[in-house]
Amino acid sequence: MGSLPEQFVFRSRLPDIAIPDHLPLHDYVFERLADRRDRACLIDGATGETLSFGDVDALSRRVAAGLSSIGVCHGSTVMLLLPNSVEFAVAFLASSRLGAVTTTANPLHTPPEIAKQVAASGATVVVTEPAFVAKVSGLAGVTVVATGDGAEGCASFAGLAAADGSALPEVAIDVASDAVALPYSSGTTGLPKGVMLSHRGLVTSVAQLVDGENPNLHLREDDVVLCVLPMFHVYSLHSILLCGMRAGAAIVVMKRFDTVKMLQLVERHGVTIAPLVPPIVVEMAKSDALDRHDLSSVRMVISGAAPMGKELQDIVHAKLPNAVLGQGYGMTEAGPVLSMCMAFAKEPTPVKSGACGTVVRNAELKIVDPDTGLSLPRNQPGEICIRGKQIMKGYLNNPEATEKTIDKDGWLHTGDIGFVDDDDEIFIVDRLKELIKYKGFQVAPAELEAMLIAHAAVADAAVVPMKDDSCGEIPVAFVVARDGSGITEDEIKQYVAKQVVFYKRLHKIFFVDAIPKAPSGKILRKDLRAKLAAGIPAC
Ligand code: AMP
Repeated sequence: MGSLPEQFVFRSRLPDIAIPDHLPLHDYVFERLADRRDRACLIDGATGETLSFGDVDALSRRVAAGLSSIGVCHGSTVMLLLPNSVEFAVAFLASSRLGAVTTTANPLHTPPEIAKQVAASGATVVVTEPAFVAKVSGLAGVTVVATGDGAEGCASFAGLAAADGSALPEVAIDVASDAVALPYSSGTTGLPKGVMLSHRGLVTSVAQLVDGENPNLHLREDDVVLCVLPMFHVYSLHSILLCGMRAGAAIVVMKRFDTVKMLQLVERHGVTIAPLVPPIVVEMAKSDALDRHDLSSVRMVISGAAPMGKELQDIVHAKLPNAVLGQGYGMTEAGPVLSMCMAFAKEPTPVKSGACGTVVRNAELKIVDPDTGLSLPRNQPGEICIRGKQIMKGYLNNPEATEKTIDKDGWLHTGDIGFVDDDDEIFIVDRLKELIKYKGFQVAPAELEAMLIAHAAVADAAVVPMKDDSCGEIPVAFVVARDGSGITEDEIKQYVAKQVVFYKRLHKIFFVDAIPKAPSGKILRKDLRAKLAAGIPAC
């Protein structure tokens, strides 16, 4: 039986644009290099050192030659285990030039978390800072490259950057099938998986936001973009680094978040665009330093990765009266951006409170009834699905998970519940999937559940999100303790904390007699979330 025709498919009101999706990502990003060679591209927030577009292009060629000399080639995987830095941006572009794929990881991850990703991604080179070298130095078959002053037993980034960039190997990149980025995401269910984003996928996604006459993101060549969000997350990699470079804007790179330093950088460099996440806006709003800095240069604050409530929006409007507040909605697997504010106007315009924009151009979006699989009309909530060349190619070495996420008609199922209103604005109202988002960081319940069940004193466990004012959501666990084990809440918290990065730590343990499950054995997470919402955690 053929598939039924889709009744309700939403598209941008803007016409589709021609996207140069035959270009590999690095060539696309530097397509207008000749006009911008001397313009500022990357500004190191700590030192003020500025690299022009010409510098970044040349440096990325030299680092590519250096990476090639240590064996990186078409099809290799390079892990970037770096905080925000010029080196991150340059190494990413260098890998792209070689037809290699970059997998990104939070340098604060624990050694076992990193080892798992290195093994799963097949990374043979890890680029990191001296401070994190110990986390990866024992990994078999991995060459470690250290930035800064280098580190014993490692190749040095400076050494790679001294290579002859004019002697790059010829690489035949297949833009449709070669992955260029491999971020990890748990998607709608299970453990973190490698998300294969192809050259064509990322070029399309960047173009959807910044190319054409009336770009969704309204980024311009004279913009100065703040890069405080971690580049290892696809939001920053895509929407700040790649979109910023393609648009010809200058990017102010901040190594780690600090409210006062961030405000100083905004003032010093005349930042015009500030992409943030709600928890950073909360910190900024609370800070008494806010009123001591001139932030009048900021013309746009963009919030994404998690919902932003009306109160926070009001604070931004009050404190940054010159800035339009925009929202974006992304998901790593979606390439990553599904919708963006300000899509229709010549100048940025705000969206309705609680909305996260309108669907990007050159894409289709539908809302699907999770029970019937049929698409729904406006104002009816269902699972948000998206289709277009920007979505992921699939999960690395995991065709089953890919098939569950991208259906046979090419629709990517987000696991988010939302609706499209009469003005085409998208509202996210719930999450069908397991994912927990702590300050915008992903926490996969399955990963913590596997850890808990591996403990001798735990008979069963389920991890769910609990709403939290400053973090958005925090992971909490329902645990069935083995009879007579006497295990305490603190012991369980410590046991997990030792194995995971800070944002995956459990904040609360509720001891229960049984975990509610469907006959199939699936945890009834909705019931647990409802119990938390009702303030009655005990089952
Ligand atoms: P990630 O793959 O880490 O970017 O996480 C993607 C998920 O974050 C989405 O599927 C949503 O559940 C959530 N998310 C992203 N942007 C927003 C937003 N603007 N409002 C609400 N939730 C969001």
